[in-house]
Amino acid sequence: MTEGTTGGCPVLPSHGRMRPLGLAQVSITGGFWGARQAVNATATLAHCESWMERLGWLANFDRVADGTTGPGRPGWPFSDSEVYKLLEALSWEAGRTGDPDAEAAIERLTARVARAQDPDGYINTCFGHGGQQPRYSDLEDGHELYNLGHLLQAAVARLRTSGEDDLVRVARRAADHVCHTFGPDGLTKICGHPEIEVGLAEFGRALGDERYIEQARLFLDRRGHGTLKDIPLGRAYFQDDIPIRQAEVWRGHAVRALYLSAAAVDVAVERGDDELLRAVERQWERSVARRTYITGGMGSRHQDEGFGEDWELPPDRAYCETCAGVASIMVSWRLFLATGDVRYSDLIERTLYNVIAASPSPDGRAFFYANPLHQRTPGRPTDPDEVSPRAEAGVRAAWFDVSCCPTNVARTLAGLQGYLATTDDDGLQIHQYAPGEIRAELPGGRQVAVDVETGYPETGTVRVRVAADTTGPWTLTLRVPAWAAGATLTDEGRTREVAPGTAEITRTFRAGDVIVLDLPMEPRFTWPDPRIDAVRGCVAVERGPEVLCVESHDLPGAAGLDALVIDPSPGLRAEPGGARGRALLPAQPDRSWPYPVRHPAHPAAPAGDAGWFDVPLRPYHSWARRGPSGMRVWLPVSTPR
Ligand SMILES: [Zn+2]
Repeated sequence: MTEGTTGGCPVLPSHGRMRPLGLAQVSITGGFWGARQAVNATATLAHCESWMERLGWLANFDRVADGTTGPGRPGWPFSDSEVYKLLEALSWEAGRTGDPDAEAAIERLTARVARAQDPDGYINTCFGHGGQQPRYSDLEDGHELYNLGHLLQAAVARLRTSGEDDLVRVARRAADHVCHTFGPDGLTKICGHPEIEVGLAEFGRALGDERYIEQARLFLDRRGHGTLKDIPLGRAYFQDDIPIRQAEVWRGHAVRALYLSAAAVDVAVERGDDELLRAVERQWERSVARRTYITGGMGSRHQDEGFGEDWELPPDRAYCETCAGVASIMVSWRLFLATGDVRYSDLIERTLYNVIAASPSPDGRAFFYANPLHQRTPGRPTDPDEVSPRAEAGVRAAWFDVSCCPTNVARTLAGLQGYLATTDDDGLQIHQYAPGEIRAELPGGRQVAVDVETGYPETGTVRVRVAADTTGPWTLTLRVPAWAAGATLTDEGRTREVAPGTAEITRTFRAGDVIVLDLPMEPRFTWPDPRIDAVRGCVAVERGPEVLCVESHDLPGAAGLDALVIDPSPGLRAEPGGARGRALLPAQPDRSWPYPVRHPAHPAAPAGDAGWFDVPLRPYHSWARRGPSGMRVWLPVSTPR
């Protein structure tokens, strides 16, 4: 397969259960994600570039090129990676729309990056030049290989949407430098932050160059043996405590664990290494079952931006870095392509709507970094002209001191249609629902063309309209989300119930045929496993793929949320885009010691309807859009009087 026919897939395994469709085959023409792609294109990309210019992160490349490096370099050692992630986002955007502004930005940024590359392919603005620490002298914290991994991912986006250009040539020299320096005869070291592995593996696929995939495997197998120095947080922080093949669960820094697992799936698939694939599946299963928030968010510890123990999922201390959401989607998509198991697509949907969509503000110029499920005190408004020093401020910020999340959101949104649909030997599968067009080729050269019409997730009706005749039968497969019990499928005038999983229709389709999937969008209560003790006795409300929340804006007198209780017995009332539930704000006396000997909940609940009110529940992804607010997803259930 040549790159020119792949149409721009972020991930393109050489084989697997499913074949992804890329930007040339799938378009999003509007709706929930179309609107976000448009804001990303018209606001976020330029926003990111202007901040990096302003903070000197771009000029760092100029200083290397001009030989003027020295003390006082602005930015963290990983700031180069933000430039590369922006280049990746711009590449998907240019590939998606042909936008000349995106194209010009790619050329502008590539020229500055290229000038900073050393003759042997090394490229970094923090190490290895005048007045700086030597190359690879701080692999634990230096992020040199991490940065290069993002350069390679940017080059993959460019290769698959445009072809070989200066960015790809820079990346190729950098990848060759890495193989030369860290290959079988080189330094037997690894980077503290995984990312080079996933970059090398995909770059190897994109160029058909096995050496890069082999280097990714080498890095993977070196990790877990105490290759890095021990640190106060322990080697689990960078997954150097246990070899990935032996690990049972994700632990340590969430983004690191997930980028590493994404690479492990790539290597496993390319090498037919089933042991490695099973290891990642096993870690996904336990981590999703015991270490993942209802939003799909991952990471419950602030001190190391990391996973907690099993069941350690406090809503107010949820870290759930936006980047961990991006990385979780990277892992799940790879596992899905390898196995065809829709549980991975279910988690992708959950994470898209409740982590990725939550991060950017409507204008695309401010972002959540951490995504807690409970904000006790409204955050303080941020200055759109200032860098936020805090990742967990409870408000979206224009930019952060550590600003990994905005560019990660940007690259994910720009290439989002690369995660929507696949083909296999039998036909076409649609996994995520957005209005758009799909034009794909089945084995044997048969062309299939369908248009998707939907207001999802505002409505649950998904119409798939066949846009062209196809010779002979093929199978259309639609994912039925795990939450969608009672969904129906209508085809040729007949309606049948379809269970969560997938719904298939095999026949000879004609242009104009319409298949309708109806997903139940009534709001529903969701209960936590009792072992998640931080939310024991609470209930959440979901509607379709969206987790809902209560915000202090919607309480009488903008009261605090601390005492809020909900009575699930009357059920929920559907509202456009949300729900209403029966709630109470029981008065709690101030106590000098907050542990009375008598159960404190009972006397506060009044009889009858006194004090009860209808509380609005709105999509979590939209919280704090009306200004800083208190918020909670998990709602304590009222105790009967
Ligand atoms: Zn981040």
